[in-house]
Amino acid sequence: MVFKGLEKSAALFEEAQKYIPGGVNSPVRAFKAVGMNPPFIVRGEGSKLYDADGNEYVDYVGSWGPLILGHRHPKVIEALQQCLEIGTSFGAPTEMETEMARLVIEAVPSIEVVRMVNSGTEATMSALRLARGYTGRNKIVKFEGCYHGHADHLLIKAGSGALTLGVPTSPGVPASIAGNTIVARYNDLEGLKEIFAAEGEDIAAVILEPVAGNMGCVPPQPGFLEGLRELTREYGALLIFDEVMTGFRVAYGGAQERYNIDPDLTCLGKIIGGGLPVGAYGGKREIMEHVAPAGPVYQAGTLSGNPLAMSAGIATLKVLKEPGVYEELERKSAKLAAGMKEAAEQAGAVATFNRVGAMFSAFFTDQPVIDFETASSSDTEKFAVFFREMLKQGIYLAPSQFEAGFMSLAHTDEDIEKTIEASYKAFKAAAQ
Ligand code: PMP
Repeated sequence: MVFKGLEKSAALFEEAQKYIPGGVNSPVRAFKAVGMNPPFIVRGEGSKLYDADGNEYVDYVGSWGPLILGHRHPKVIEALQQCLEIGTSFGAPTEMETEMARLVIEAVPSIEVVRMVNSGTEATMSALRLARGYTGRNKIVKFEGCYHGHADHLLIKAGSGALTLGVPTSPGVPASIAGNTIVARYNDLEGLKEIFAAEGEDIAAVILEPVAGNMGCVPPQPGFLEGLRELTREYGALLIFDEVMTGFRVAYGGAQERYNIDPDLTCLGKIIGGGLPVGAYGGKREIMEHVAPAGPVYQAGTLSGNPLAMSAGIATLKVLKEPGVYEELERKSAKLAAGMKEAAEQAGAVATFNRVGAMFSAFFTDQPVIDFETASSSDTEKFAVFFREMLKQGIYLAPSQFEAGFMSLAHTDEDIEKTIEASYKAFKAAAQ
């Protein structure tokens, strides 16, 4: 298919900028990092996205992770249609919420009780409030390069070194709040031990993406998650796995199933909403019973457990539960990664590939990427060239070096072969 340009999208973007900050309702959608205007989307179907200019793309963003079944999966659409027959929101208990909770608890090994919310941000924010309420401590540890949504105490990046106290990365985050967030280096257990030796008695929780996806895909090094589990237990701090991205993606039971780790609390989002707004946090009963109304830690939501979101989420999880699903995701993802690696080599491009299940990244660096610093060694100019060249050939990737790509069940072998072929040209352009 010949690329038809983005003229109509450009006009729509200009109009949007009159009414919406930056023209978008979430910053990355503006395509700033890749130096171009975003396509305006009019439709999705299976593995494909269609824009206002009539371009068709193979979609590896999948709405930033939720669409593991692809766009408009028949089971999800059917569930949504059935739900519309009974209503859109009640603000009262429904049996669907119990069904969703049961599915999550059966799937995710450490979760005994779960509360639904409306976004990943709400999930991590609530889990941290609970951790603080439960432990009676204020400090939290997060890792540089991990993203946990936009709550004040999580919008912190590191200064230099693992022991540095947090600095707000966003104006508007009070220093008094930032001061309670300690930033550590991903995959650096020794650094974390020093942090705990210095202030372990004050640390309520360590929160992390068990496979990082928000600095590109960065897997945990062997022993890192195990060490974290041991250290947090030793000091009576909670271990919170933010599985908003990895949940139901790197395995049905998430990263905790894949790496066999038992966190105290887990945050979920994306896939469990099947494309509708959702988040959840859950964990050990003894801790979760501190949440209102069972306990004193307050957290609530007008639309939490929303029937449409529950319907789409339940339908999605039921498909994912079928035998062979994760094997198929692994097969396709491995095929794509191997093909792109070979294409990069043939094109003479320098790239490092990371992948865990259906989550992957190609970094434009010759170093192994294991943390924020090594991820940052990527040549983002080269990435931008690569990205634009892929888009022109009908391949829609996340418009930033520091995001992961997502495989879905809807991607065909033909899609994957087309992507590999396109990547050769794009790597070649980037290698110039
Ligand atoms: N945690 C992780 C690991 C995420 O990837 C994201 C979003 N990409 C969030 C939390 C925040 O979720 P939301 O955008 O739904 O608020």
